[in-house]
Amino acid sequence: MQPLFLYNTLTRKKEEFKALNPPFVGMYVCGPTVYSDVHLGNCRTFISFDIMYRYLTHIGYKVRYLRNITDAGHLESDGDVGEDKISKKAKLQQLEPMEIVQTYTVDFHKVMELFNTLPPNIEPTATGHIIEQQQITEEIIKKGLAYEVNGTVYFDVEKFAKDNNYTALTGRKLEELLENTRDLEGQGDKRGRLDFALWIKAKPEHLMKWGSQWGTGFPGWHIECSAMSTKYLGEQFDIHGGGMDLQATHHTNEIAQNIAYCGKQPCNYWLHTNMLTVSGQKMSKSLGNSFLPRELFTGNHKLLDKGYSPMAVKFFMLQTHYRSTLDFSNEALQASEKGFDRLMESYSTLQTLTASATSSEDIKALQAKCYEAMNDDFNTPVLIACLFDAARIINSANDKKTNLTQIDIDLLKDIYRHFLFDVMGLKPESENLKTKQVLGKVVEMVLHIRDKAKADKNFNLSDDIRNKLTEAGVQVKDGKEGSSWKI
Ligand code: AMP
Ligand code: ZN
Repeated sequence: MQPLFLYNTLTRKKEEFKALNPPFVGMYVCGPTVYSDVHLGNCRTFISFDIMYRYLTHIGYKVRYLRNITDAGHLESDGDVGEDKISKKAKLQQLEPMEIVQTYTVDFHKVMELFNTLPPNIEPTATGHIIEQQQITEEIIKKGLAYEVNGTVYFDVEKFAKDNNYTALTGRKLEELLENTRDLEGQGDKRGRLDFALWIKAKPEHLMKWGSQWGTGFPGWHIECSAMSTKYLGEQFDIHGGGMDLQATHHTNEIAQNIAYCGKQPCNYWLHTNMLTVSGQKMSKSLGNSFLPRELFTGNHKLLDKGYSPMAVKFFMLQTHYRSTLDFSNEALQASEKGFDRLMESYSTLQTLTASATSSEDIKALQAKCYEAMNDDFNTPVLIACLFDAARIINSANDKKTNLTQIDIDLLKDIYRHFLFDVMGLKPESENLKTKQVLGKVVEMVLHIRDKAKADKNFNLSDDIRNKLTEAGVQVKDGKEGSSWKI
């Protein structure tokens, strides 16, 4: 096995990956909070970790990959203020919180499948691990690093920081953090302004609550990941991941909890994906600039010129390294779509090549470059550049401008199979998806005609179009910014 180098956020260095207990690898990734549809930014993070999981498996590790579902405890702010996101939505829609959880978990799985990501080995939920979270909280209180006030338990950050480096993951100075954190006003009964909740007392109207030795309440957001990772991967495991936006609070607090609980840093390598941005701004549900995968696939979004298939979108994401920001644009997506088609066409051409007796290409060296790229912190853009080299060679061989032996052709087939399909999880588009894309374009065109009819005050025609679309199963919604539709 060739050495694999990873960029470890904790040490801020690229390091050779050494599994704790080879060939086994434990990998934990913070999963979605299931209170709304996942947006494309969330997908970028999960796709990046899927590729790491696939590559580690490809090079021979036996990976236990956990990705949790946050179905309780994530409040509206990353601090301990605001309502639980799921409870809030359930109240608004007059549903059971678990109906919200079920709806968005199912949707999340569908989206992950469309992007052809592999399911994790274990997908634990916060609500399924209340007892474990309470046990860890109790243990941290026993160690003197958490305290209870009026039914809420807080982690004592400043006390912890006396003997430990609380800000190890970000490298920030504790004093600066303290200065920049707002006053305790409105922050409950915390003693220190950096303290965070491990267990939160539930108000009578709170929907998801459990009994505990501190009264009725619910777990804080960070404690779920400490509880579920230690339960299934042990007190120390190999890789912990998530988006960069989780580094400063969620992961910093998770490390503190684990060290307070068992004296150990939970994992050896912390990996963080960078953000998908729109015009330079992080794509986020709260900023209202998010794209839903469905909108991208159909083209039904005001910033999109047309729809793109899941594989073209995934290919677009993989052309940027996971630690760099990736800005969303129509032009980049169009270029990726073309590039992806070119690679797939070259794969079809590869099946038809006839072998020569001699070779004029070094395919073994090309294969080695593919491994080098992935061993260099999962560098998918360099890997894709190698695959374009392969495509160029295939097209030249097809035009009889270069020679390939049968061994070369078989090796090229291996390269495509291993890297394009197994490691990056890309696959040829299905006819079904192409049909959906065409359908999306047709609906957009019909709505365009309807807009014109409305502008000409031809309301009979516009109503007729809308009714016919409804009959055909296309629901049209008129809004201030024009009409939107869904099937
Ligand atoms: P959430 O459901 O908001 O807790 O996010 C789920 C995962 O998506 C976390 O690992 C986040 O760090 C990640 N994430 C959120 N927004 C983005 C974004 N714009 N780009 C990449 N990853 C993101
Ligand atoms: Zn987490």
